[in-house]
Amino acid sequence: MVEQCNPTISSHYIGLRLPSNPTYTVTNMKKILFVSSEVYPLIKTGGLADVCSSLPKALVELGQDIRVIIPKYPSLKTVGEVQFLCSLRIDNHLINIFETQIPDSPIIAWLVDCPDLFNLPGNPYVDEKGIPWVNNAERFSLFCRVAVEVAMDKVNRGWKPDIVHCNDWQSGLVPALLSLEKNRPKTIFTIHNMAYQGLFPVEVVRSLNLPGQLWNPNGLEFYGMLSFIKGGIVYADRITTVSPTYALEIQTPEFGYGLEGLLAHRSEHLVGIINGIDTNEWNSEIDPHISQRYTVDSLPDKLPNKSELQRRVNLPVNDQVPLFGLISRLVEQKGIDMIIECLPEMVELPMQLVLLGNGDKDFERQLQNIASLYPDKIVIIIDYNESLAHLIEAGSDVFLMPSRFEPCGLNQMYSQRYGTIPLVRKTGGLADTVVDTLPDSIDNHSATGIVFKEANSGALLEAIKRTLLLYSNHATWQQMQTNAMNKDFSWRNSAAQYLALYDNI
Ligand code: ADP
Repeated sequence: MVEQCNPTISSHYIGLRLPSNPTYTVTNMKKILFVSSEVYPLIKTGGLADVCSSLPKALVELGQDIRVIIPKYPSLKTVGEVQFLCSLRIDNHLINIFETQIPDSPIIAWLVDCPDLFNLPGNPYVDEKGIPWVNNAERFSLFCRVAVEVAMDKVNRGWKPDIVHCNDWQSGLVPALLSLEKNRPKTIFTIHNMAYQGLFPVEVVRSLNLPGQLWNPNGLEFYGMLSFIKGGIVYADRITTVSPTYALEIQTPEFGYGLEGLLAHRSEHLVGIINGIDTNEWNSEIDPHISQRYTVDSLPDKLPNKSELQRRVNLPVNDQVPLFGLISRLVEQKGIDMIIECLPEMVELPMQLVLLGNGDKDFERQLQNIASLYPDKIVIIIDYNESLAHLIEAGSDVFLMPSRFEPCGLNQMYSQRYGTIPLVRKTGGLADTVVDTLPDSIDNHSATGIVFKEANSGALLEAIKRTLLLYSNHATWQQMQTNAMNKDFSWRNSAAQYLALYDNI
């Protein structure tokens, strides 16, 4: 098949250089196996799931043949048929592989079923107290070994990928194991978050039955521990991460967690490609979760969503007071501690805050304690709720995202699409996707948000006060909303960049 695409390939490449000419010819369909521990809507704990669903969809639209492989957790939300495909044995485990489709997409998902390892309730990585499952090394090393069997078509499905695209530490052993195979597919390893590395004590190494030649300081060993993420960083043919700024940041001690030297060493093969978003899922024109749909041309129709959100979460219904929204895992990365420090002053300001999230129990408790004192100003909802997340995006005026670090971040892009102004810290993908509102950017109509630099509560509070000032200027605010809603956050550009990368390996 010969297909002409015309993506704008903006040059987000660091080290790697791809053709700057945007005219791109897909001469042959590539077979690409996506390896991930979560894929929306089958299972999701964060942005990884969104990306591993929406990027494959975008690549299919660019004429590629994609399969996704994930563990078969009991909490998978499959829709429709789940068919048995084949069995294999690894060590003393009998593994069945099932086939289903990612709901609302043509994409085939292969589900790795090994009940003695994956038959755990709830979250794929941690128990209900937030403690990692004790056998995570065994669980995900087995998952990787199965992915390798599939990638080499040792399961005889007549489908051998050209590219194996691995995501985060749970798939990190795949490039390492494939590096030992002859006639292997090329490998890409995408870092969605360096903070999660899959580090395990040396004692587990023997029980995993991994090839001995991978165990050395230039391989999977990291200061005497087993590092899954190193498997991807050392052995993958290409490394990507999810924003150009984060690709630079992870080569520094502050964000590299001890792997900055290795990443700098591999910088020729490291590239930052900003994530796109699923523009069907996050579309204020058709969103089934919101009370009034709207577009950039009908901005006043956004307002009923604010009243509905205020009603739904029991805040006073008031269209004059700016409503701040926040949806997040409650972890230090997201700057939740800075928000907690700011709350006593925030309640003195003319604003409301609705926060939806869960995670660190201590953060949950502290937030709830403060919120209970100011029910007219702050509402904290400890939950994971997709539908409410959509209403918060549509109903808020401002979206708070003061992350200490943010590889890419999705909510700041959802917000802009919904005309909800993001207030973000200048880091990672937030720096790459939000344009601060300054005299120049107001004049040239590029301003889409409020950006602050220092990771402390004083700087956050200043930014909140600046936001309130801007909000009081109706014309400027409306222009910011229009600028934000007109931005293109679709996967079109980014998927084309991945495709160029696949072609250039
Ligand atoms: P991360 O992957 O670090 O958690 P991202 O911004 O990349 O952060 O992606 C987070 C995704 O998870 C977004 O789609 C966000 O809306 C969603 N999300 C996070 N917490 C919740 C929650 N409590 N309820 C609903 N959606 C949530």
